[in-house]
Amino acid sequence: MSEATKETTNFIKTIIEEDLASGKHSKIITRFPPEPNGYLHIGHAKSICLNFGIAKQYNGTCHLRFDDTNPEKEETEYVESIMNDVKWLGFDWGENLFYASSYFDQLYEWAVQMIKDGLAFVCHQTLEEIRECRGTAKGKGIESPYRNRSVEENLDLFEKMKNGEFKDGECMLRAKIDMAHPNVLLRDPVMYRIKHVSHHRTGDKWCIYPTYDYAHGQSDAIENITHSICTLEFEAHRPLYEWFLEAIKPLSRPRQIEFARLNLTYTVMSKRLLMKLVKENIVNGWDDPRMPTIAGIRRRGYPPEAVRDFSERIGLAKRESTVSLDLLEHCVRENLNKKARRYMAVINPLKVVVTNYPEDIVEEFDAVNNPEDETAGTRKVPFTREIYIEKDDFMEEPAKKFHRLYPGNEVRLRAAYYITCNDIIKDENGNIVELHCTYDPETKGGSSPDGRKVKGTIHWVSASHNVPVEARLYDTLFKVENPMEFGEGGSFTDNLNPDSLKVTENAYAEVNIKELPQGERFQFERVGYFVIDSDTTSEKTVVNRIVTLKDKWARLQKK
Ligand code: ATP
Ligand code: MG
Repeated sequence: MSEATKETTNFIKTIIEEDLASGKHSKIITRFPPEPNGYLHIGHAKSICLNFGIAKQYNGTCHLRFDDTNPEKEETEYVESIMNDVKWLGFDWGENLFYASSYFDQLYEWAVQMIKDGLAFVCHQTLEEIRECRGTAKGKGIESPYRNRSVEENLDLFEKMKNGEFKDGECMLRAKIDMAHPNVLLRDPVMYRIKHVSHHRTGDKWCIYPTYDYAHGQSDAIENITHSICTLEFEAHRPLYEWFLEAIKPLSRPRQIEFARLNLTYTVMSKRLLMKLVKENIVNGWDDPRMPTIAGIRRRGYPPEAVRDFSERIGLAKRESTVSLDLLEHCVRENLNKKARRYMAVINPLKVVVTNYPEDIVEEFDAVNNPEDETAGTRKVPFTREIYIEKDDFMEEPAKKFHRLYPGNEVRLRAAYYITCNDIIKDENGNIVELHCTYDPETKGGSSPDGRKVKGTIHWVSASHNVPVEARLYDTLFKVENPMEFGEGGSFTDNLNPDSLKVTENAYAEVNIKELPQGERFQFERVGYFVIDSDTTSEKTVVNRIVTLKDKWARLQKK
């Protein structure tokens, strides 16, 4: 865990501490239970940090359990990506890798026992009929006509279901609870449905699959989970979770505790919606750096320590709320500011000819690698007669308070010389093509022996000794804080930001960039934090902008 991450307390930790103090539990076991039906997102990261973090803090264990009870949408690709993501976040499940599908035999046996105890029955109502008969919270439901069949008949039918003698949807196994229960989820919920579909792990062994409600708590019990932490939408399911445990009476009794899911501004956080963005090629795959998936933020260059820090800082809530994306970016910047080395790159180049500088010389200057960390040392940056500066750093007619380059003004080139702009060269259409400047040889290294001060310092790159880079500049994928607010008949995709990706045409970086490995994070001075992207080849260096340098969060805190 990074030094920056201070463990904070929260209501779940309070419960755990009470359970340890009272002797209810001597060892804490939590679990992270993803359904392998898509890639994990930053909301899952919160859950991972919470469950693995608690296990770590209390010397317990955290299981990684694939909740793979729904064969239609689940794939091995997702299982692998999920494992990769959990590891990347810095957590280790050790030997505790489980699959709900490993418990199918046990779950079946328990279901048979429930039938024998008169607590489950085979029902031939369709899903629609079941839904209709369930009724609303205010009223009562209507009992299924199949509810009171004999134990023998139920056992026989359930076995036939298992043996594939029915078609999909022809019948289901339902718990026999109470059709007048005030909580509609307890009105004889479905436990098993028939799906003649191969499963990614059990193949064609089963054609009946348990529902989430029936499988989840029992899986927790099998694994001796002490605290089963989930998001608020399962709060109403808790009585059912407990009802099943009471019906089956496993040796171990896990406790379900809910917390509010993480929502982020400018972000959608549902696998279903993210899947749509991928399938419809709105983004370039699950790991598109604009995606809130863990694969996406990894490729974007977010450090895992920053994600853990963010997760800790936002704490735990019992009510839904939305966290500002600015805070996440702030955590990323704070982390990178301390560690990332500085380099120079010009994203939008304007050529400068230093007319009084010799043509055939390449001088090397020492530039500071990280002003936040002296031990990071310095590097050599080549300087030549022709350089590039950022277009934005020049104004023909300077605005008020513009202290960078303009005709007649002197500025410092970072780590090099003072230069003064004398001439503007334009093409026939009046566009500026280059600037002619002169340098003061006395200002070598970026300071003047006569104590002469300049107000502006700008970055630069040699026009002959550089690395061309393709810089991918990202903005939020959506242009509004809440992408789920759209007009009638519309879609969340109406809120997509058309400028979420800008690719530079001719950006140049200092030569030292060439040595950096894929995944290395650094700062392009004054431009932002960047990472070497996996599309980099020996011919082309591709960099992703992780975040800009403007910290909106920090600014808001100061106000
Ligand atoms: P989604 O709704 O995004 O499709 P899910 O809840 O269906 O996600 P699961 O694979 O079932 O995805 O989730 C695994 C775990 O991650 C669950 O315990 C779930 O509660 C938790 N989780 C999912 N989304 C969030 C979130 N936004 N914030 C915190 N925890 C989350
Ligand atoms: Mg789910």
